[in-house]
Amino acid sequence: MKIVNARLRGREGLHRIELDGARIAAIVAQPALADAGDGLDAAGNLVVPPFVEPHIHLDATLTAGEPAWNMSGTLFEGIERWAERKALVTHEDTKTRARKAIDMLVEHGIQHVRTHVDVTDPTLAALKAMLEVREETRHLIDLQIVAFPQEGIESYQGGRELMAEAIALGADVVGGIPHFENTREQGVSSIKFLMDLAERSGCLVDVHCDETDDPQSRFLEVLAEEARVRDMGERVTASHTTAMGSWDNAYCSKLFRLLKLSRINFVSCPTESIHLQGRFDTFPKRRGLTRVAELDRAGLNVCFGQDSIVDPWYPLGNGNILRILEAGLHICHMLGYADLQRALDLVTGHSARTLQLGERYGLEVGRPANLLILSAASDYELLRSQGHALVSIRHGEVLMRRTPARIERYS
Ligand SMILES: [Zn+2]
Repeated sequence: MKIVNARLRGREGLHRIELDGARIAAIVAQPALADAGDGLDAAGNLVVPPFVEPHIHLDATLTAGEPAWNMSGTLFEGIERWAERKALVTHEDTKTRARKAIDMLVEHGIQHVRTHVDVTDPTLAALKAMLEVREETRHLIDLQIVAFPQEGIESYQGGRELMAEAIALGADVVGGIPHFENTREQGVSSIKFLMDLAERSGCLVDVHCDETDDPQSRFLEVLAEEARVRDMGERVTASHTTAMGSWDNAYCSKLFRLLKLSRINFVSCPTESIHLQGRFDTFPKRRGLTRVAELDRAGLNVCFGQDSIVDPWYPLGNGNILRILEAGLHICHMLGYADLQRALDLVTGHSARTLQLGERYGLEVGRPANLLILSAASDYELLRSQGHALVSIRHGEVLMRRTPARIERYS
């Protein structure tokens, strides 16, 4: 297969991309072709590697309102409502909902996904279901499973054992939730425990860290220091860190030195955080997001994720990561010209680095033949036009094709 009239980010002119089975065989500069012949015509639009979803909860998707809606809109009521729904979770129920959500992601050009699966359940029912889904959907996505202790490691009975069992069963990433543990000390010891587990097992780390407006929640420094001392930074991710939006500048100026030394990654879920946080404020009302632009300006790796699709924490969502990108750029004051020129980094390359995809990702000869044809010729124009992935190619074959809406004008 070959794609012609492809525009590539960071390169001048148009290109022809040749695929040899499941690999990219050649990328060659070529003047515009009026006739694409037997090639796929990108029509001068961007061709990029697949979008990445670095933070979602597929085991909880499509459960909002079952059995009750989250009326306060807070994170903590979400955890309560989920605990009620969790009692009804079955193997098939989890698989059916996860497959539906994965279809939504695929239809928006996502081919790499990291999902957090709740392991604070003595039966580990959701985890066992998701391990099967990971195998059954390999033709659609590469799925990383995080062993995520929704109700705590130290403050949930048997929490440590469940985490270890989840990793032994085949989870790819060690999770955590230190700000939800009952005490500061438990939060700190949970991080030491999960970093030990990751070091022993060779797994990656992705911690729900300081997902609160409480300015006293300061577990990011603990996670970053553990990553620095163990030289594991690139393999470690801090998700949310929304409390950073409430920390003062004096503290952050010291903290950022450590963050840079640690080299850890960051995920922000802007639609979910703007919805869940700020709930205890009247006015002025905080945005409840981490310092995305500041992390980015400091050279740290930061990306955007969806977090939820129709679950106790967030009632909307359709799998479209570009919707998250647009909202995030607004909320984080990142609509400056320079940011708009490279906006797709936040849902492609930066996310791939968070997932440590390495040479399994990217538009380069020899890498997997996974790519998207988009509906616009630049990052800026894709955002402005609220564009889409029009074609998704995986393992050298067309996985999804979208026909844009057609408008008929009569005057
Ligand atoms: Zn999450």
